[in-house]
Amino acid sequence: MNVVDSEVVAAILQQHKYQVTEDINEADLILVNTCSIRDNAEQRVRARLRDFKKLKEQKRDLSVGVIGCMAERVKEQLLEEEPVVDLVVGPDAYRDLPALLQEVESGQKGVNTILSLEETYGDIRPVRMDRNHVTSFVAIMRGCNNFCAYCVVPGTRGRERSRDPETIVREASELFTKGYREVTLLGQNVNSYRWKEGDSLLKFEKLLERVSGIDPAFRVRFATSHPKDMSDELLKVIAQHPNLCRAIHLPVQSGSSTVLERMKRRYTREHYMDRILAIRKYLPGATISTDIIAGFCGETEEEHQETLSLMRWAEYDFAYMFKYSERPETFAAEKLKDDVSEVDKTRRLSEIIALQSKLSLESKERDVGQSFEVLVEGTSKKSEEQLYGRTSQNKVVVFPKKDLKPGNYTNITITNCTSATLIGT
Ligand code: SAH
Ligand code: SF4
Repeated sequence: MNVVDSEVVAAILQQHKYQVTEDINEADLILVNTCSIRDNAEQRVRARLRDFKKLKEQKRDLSVGVIGCMAERVKEQLLEEEPVVDLVVGPDAYRDLPALLQEVESGQKGVNTILSLEETYGDIRPVRMDRNHVTSFVAIMRGCNNFCAYCVVPGTRGRERSRDPETIVREASELFTKGYREVTLLGQNVNSYRWKEGDSLLKFEKLLERVSGIDPAFRVRFATSHPKDMSDELLKVIAQHPNLCRAIHLPVQSGSSTVLERMKRRYTREHYMDRILAIRKYLPGATISTDIIAGFCGETEEEHQETLSLMRWAEYDFAYMFKYSERPETFAAEKLKDDVSEVDKTRRLSEIIALQSKLSLESKERDVGQSFEVLVEGTSKKSEEQLYGRTSQNKVVVFPKKDLKPGNYTNITITNCTSATLIGT
């Protein structure tokens, strides 16, 4: 999401005499697009700001801005805490950047952290900042209304709003015309995408169908699905279109219904398992990935074991795993106790990671001997003679270069694997 936002910001600034540079020493303006989801994300931003302080000492007219979620959360207080900062701009105020930069040029500080109920930047054509020119992202909605007890997103990115489907399809079509072969549609809860068209309501599965219709050679992915809203209708639509990728990211957060209730996730372990069974039924062979939080408020050893047992049952192909980090002004920070000790949190997270490494390896091993259509993305980091790409199931494959180029499709037979990568010919 922040990559997409940075591309929107670059587009807004390009219309006002700025252009993107790869060389930080050349920059007149540095914007740090920030995440507040866990405390360590914010700590990293503060470390980067210390680096920029040194740069600014060498170049007096350099301006530094903090944009995104941390700007929204900390607001003008950031100016006091980090004197290197000239500009603080929240996720819904990017159109105001040129005006704010003028204030900065005249020696003042610029701040705008007003959230909006409508802003989607739908009309802005992002300046692509990806490196491979094969895969890209398109935001289809902003904000979130779910208020999970641990989460800052509804506070920092505001209320949920969907983007005009016409602008989404137009942006995706332009990507295809430019040579891109894959797009990921992004939102905090894509299943609740909705757009009024006359008297009828356009829902996410219809939008997916439209984007998949751009070209059969244009792969479409999406994230993130919320288990409470993931419907059979959506899975049926994916099943009908081969270019809708066979990879579903369905964050579970915890395998325990009692923890899920405290997290205000609004589904139970049983409901979640039912959704996994539906994915297996409609999309056999699809990979399933997840997000897990270890050590949420009040989590007992039994509740932690329920997460491990659900992971084994679901046989996740991939997972993002985190230690619970209390975030100011969330329901959990205000009403629940962050009472799992640091030692227990760390141990539980390592148990979760160790189990997932085993499951990830098993998932790759199941592919050895099989063939997959792979979209070539670029040259492998380890060897100029090897390329890498992805299967529809979102697994990375490394294979000999031959005369293939990024953007080509090729059939690869898997001969070997590690827990992170498939190796094939
Ligand atoms: N909207 C998506 C996720 C957005 S945040 C969804 O609901 O699935 C990405 C992930 O960060 C979450 O899925 C969760 O696993 C993790 N996360 C969010 N808040 C957190 C916190 N306070 N501490 C630790 N992990 C957190
Ligand atoms: Fe945060 Fe929950 Fe919204 Fe995801 S669905 S962004 S975890 S509040």
